[in-house]
Amino acid sequence: ASAPESRAFEADVAKLLHLMVHSVYSEKDVFLRELISNAADACEKLRYEAIGTPELLGGDAKARITIALDAEAGTLAVEDNGIGMTADEMVEALGTIARSGTKAFLERIEAAKAQDAGESKAGAQLIGQFGVGFYSAFMVADRVEVISRRAGTDAATRWSSDGQGAYTIEAASAQTAPERGTRVTLHLLADAKTYTDRYKIENLVRTQSGHVPVPISVIDKPGAEPEEIVDGAALWTRSKSEIGPEEYADFYKSVSYNLDEPALIVHMRAEGRHEYTALVFVPSARPFDLFDADRKGRVKLYVKRVFITADADILPRYLRFVRGIVDSADLPLNISREMIQESTLLKAVGKGVTGRVLGDLEKLAESDKEAYTKIWDTFGSVLKEGLYEDFERREQLLGLARFKTTAAPGEWRTLKEYTAALRPNQTAVYYIAGDDQARLEASPQLEGFRARGVEVLLLAEPIDSFWVTAAPDVEGKPFKSVTQGGADLALVPLLDEAHQPAAAASEPVTRFITFVKETLGDVVADVRASDRLTDSMVCLTAPEHGPDRQLEKLLAGAGQ
Ligand code: ADP
Ligand code: MG
Repeated sequence: ASAPESRAFEADVAKLLHLMVHSVYSEKDVFLRELISNAADACEKLRYEAIGTPELLGGDAKARITIALDAEAGTLAVEDNGIGMTADEMVEALGTIARSGTKAFLERIEAAKAQDAGESKAGAQLIGQFGVGFYSAFMVADRVEVISRRAGTDAATRWSSDGQGAYTIEAASAQTAPERGTRVTLHLLADAKTYTDRYKIENLVRTQSGHVPVPISVIDKPGAEPEEIVDGAALWTRSKSEIGPEEYADFYKSVSYNLDEPALIVHMRAEGRHEYTALVFVPSARPFDLFDADRKGRVKLYVKRVFITADADILPRYLRFVRGIVDSADLPLNISREMIQESTLLKAVGKGVTGRVLGDLEKLAESDKEAYTKIWDTFGSVLKEGLYEDFERREQLLGLARFKTTAAPGEWRTLKEYTAALRPNQTAVYYIAGDDQARLEASPQLEGFRARGVEVLLLAEPIDSFWVTAAPDVEGKPFKSVTQGGADLALVPLLDEAHQPAAAASEPVTRFITFVKETLGDVVADVRASDRLTDSMVCLTAPEHGPDRQLEKLLAGAGQ
């Protein structure tokens, strides 16, 4: 074996390690989940590569993960017989951070530290989601040693670091290395020695990693026999009636890396033209990346229980908060990651799952209004993207949509409730768009509507201006902005008859209008008497067929 070679960590890794080592996260436990998830990933990668190159499996086809405890030495090792790493791969994987998300991670974790309430939770959650998992070992260890042998090769490599800015790398002797795969050994910090306790570890593995699709065993002291504690049977392959809510919740946490409880569980099996299983969840809290510009989905794709990719974008963007897995029985196992995006079969699967998720949301809205409203509060603004991106499901999404309106500004109303409360001769679904609900409620544009008891939707999100102009009619009534000239209310009776305006503009009003027109000239297109005001003197409106005022502002802001 050659002499150990010492190398400095890439600057970002050093920074990250510093954060890990000095973190005060109460949830240090997550390191184990991270190491197990890497081990399981390595087993699944091998399973995937072995489809084309079965020799890689040698005589040992059954994936496994073993956790070896040694209280005397103060060590904990996680070993897998997965794909393993070459020396170059180790340098790349354990010395740099190739992901562009890392900068964002560092920023966010610093932000989370600043507002120290909820710090540990946010921090622990971020560790997993940004894939900086391996380095979390340094939260509990002052030395981490990795010995790995890539499947199909003889050479083994040893990597070692105290997490202080540098690591060493050298060839490892055959006896110390696993036959195939990777062993990560943690020399535990003085205050982390309890991680050699068998019951503590069993408990952690069951709760954090109970659903990884690879069996996990524990060896509680040197020389002892491994004992299996997780059987590695994929939860989604079992029948619904056998699975308890807690098991689902655990699975949700392990697949999403979120710490909240799922707000909706959809477990479906499709047979017939396409055969697949989906187990997906609507979270109860917003994932941190919900408004990232790339709007990537995070449903994982499996083919016959073999993990293929987390990047398949199976569901439409407006369901990007949904977490979970889809396991297809029809896709070829060796489908290339590039072909996945083109796959019509996968598109059909995506449609099937989308239909089911929306259908289950509809059912929930019926059966448990409060639970559904919470989901709408959390993800409604994302679901609304579907109103202009998914024409096929526009009506369904409009049915799911909830609105703040002038009828009860504190409540969420459905369009069904809106149309049930239409006033005589009301010809449209009226809305007012802006960026602040309180300001909208106070707008003089609403006076005439209030006086007639006509309900107006208060659309206070930027996204509203995008979908509402292209929205389909609701029960024959088009959406119409109150700022558009033709919001003609004349035929809708006033609630209070005493307020009845004159039938036609009186002579002084006509003279006033002429005066205003002459004074303002080209600044305005027209000046008119209107039924829309009851208390205020004047208001600005948009032309009947032009863009709504709020959309106009947005377009002006975007330089259009
Ligand atoms: P992630 O798992 O999100 O990629 P990690 O920090 O957990 O990020 O791991 C970094 C990389 O190190 C992995 O992508 C993988 O290439 C490599 N790695 C870590 N653990 C193992 C292992 N047990 N077997 C093979 N490769 C591993
Ligand atoms: Mg990982």
